[in-house]
Amino acid sequence: MPGAVRMIFPAMGTVNSISIFDAGQQGAAISARDLVMRLERSLSLFRSESELSRFNALPGGTWMPVSEDTFALFCASVHYGRITDGAFDVTAGPLTALWRDAIKEQRIPADSEIISRKRLVDYKAISLDDGQGRVRLRCDGQSVDFGGIAKGYAADRVFDIMHKSAVQNAVINFGGTVGVLGKAQLIGIQHPCRPTGEPMGTLTLQNAFAVTSGGYERGFTVNGERYHHIIDPRSGMPSQCGLLSVTLVGEEAAALDALATAVFVLGAERSLPLLRSMKIEALFVTAEGAVLVTPGLEKSFRLLDQKGA
Ligand code: AMP
Ligand code: MG
Repeated sequence: MPGAVRMIFPAMGTVNSISIFDAGQQGAAISARDLVMRLERSLSLFRSESELSRFNALPGGTWMPVSEDTFALFCASVHYGRITDGAFDVTAGPLTALWRDAIKEQRIPADSEIISRKRLVDYKAISLDDGQGRVRLRCDGQSVDFGGIAKGYAADRVFDIMHKSAVQNAVINFGGTVGVLGKAQLIGIQHPCRPTGEPMGTLTLQNAFAVTSGGYERGFTVNGERYHHIIDPRSGMPSQCGLLSVTLVGEEAAALDALATAVFVLGAERSLPLLRSMKIEALFVTAEGAVLVTPGLEKSFRLLDQKGA
């Protein structure tokens, strides 16, 4: 397409792409990429100087003024913690760090370690000071991990830039968080049991986001049991939700991102009333390999031929 622009860049633990199909929109693409990189610099847990790492290192009860985006993420995270009754909980930080190491070393952490870290997890321990844009955690040792919502939040902010710049047609893909602006596009839904990039089906998406969470992304298997990176805050263990993956479709990527992570904790049945009330469509791949879609996706989803699976 003449004048189209495509940016591909690593950030947020994945490879991101931003494609704008209109001519003369290089500036918007650069601003969008810079915004994602800036968010990554403030929110990364792998940079000791990031705003979030500095916050997590503070003793319990200490206020810290944070940037506008970080404050917005804290507010959104508390909200999704509340409406999922803690299935989505950004204060799962101590547990997600434990399981991140466990996955790297392919070993199951000791029960005592899981129990002591689980005690620290409680999104209600986040205080938000709206007036001064400050946040704090209640106790020593608590920490926040925005890994379950940051890509969705970044996608929403990137779409804000697109709208402000009057971009008509664009597609973004932040590793499992896809957004389509303008003309409808066919997007692939990752096959949960096949190598990255191999789709199990396609979804026609227009002026909407599709966000996928799955236990296949990061983890290891012992005696047929899958230990992955989405943690049930109640058990302190990788969730056992009866799903291989969930894809949510709707208009606000941060909501979809947080809720997809929560669905992977709660399972399909317990999540449906909340998803319905928020007009969010869903595609579930069950542990048995069945694919279930909500009525709003029946026309737009197509299962690919799974021969040789
Ligand atoms: P996602 O791929 O959006 O489902 O996010 C998974 C990431 O979210 C993990 O790698 C952790 O960083 C973080 N996480 C894991 N479990 C939870 C949870 N129950 N609530 C919030 N964030 C979580
Ligand atoms: Mg998520």
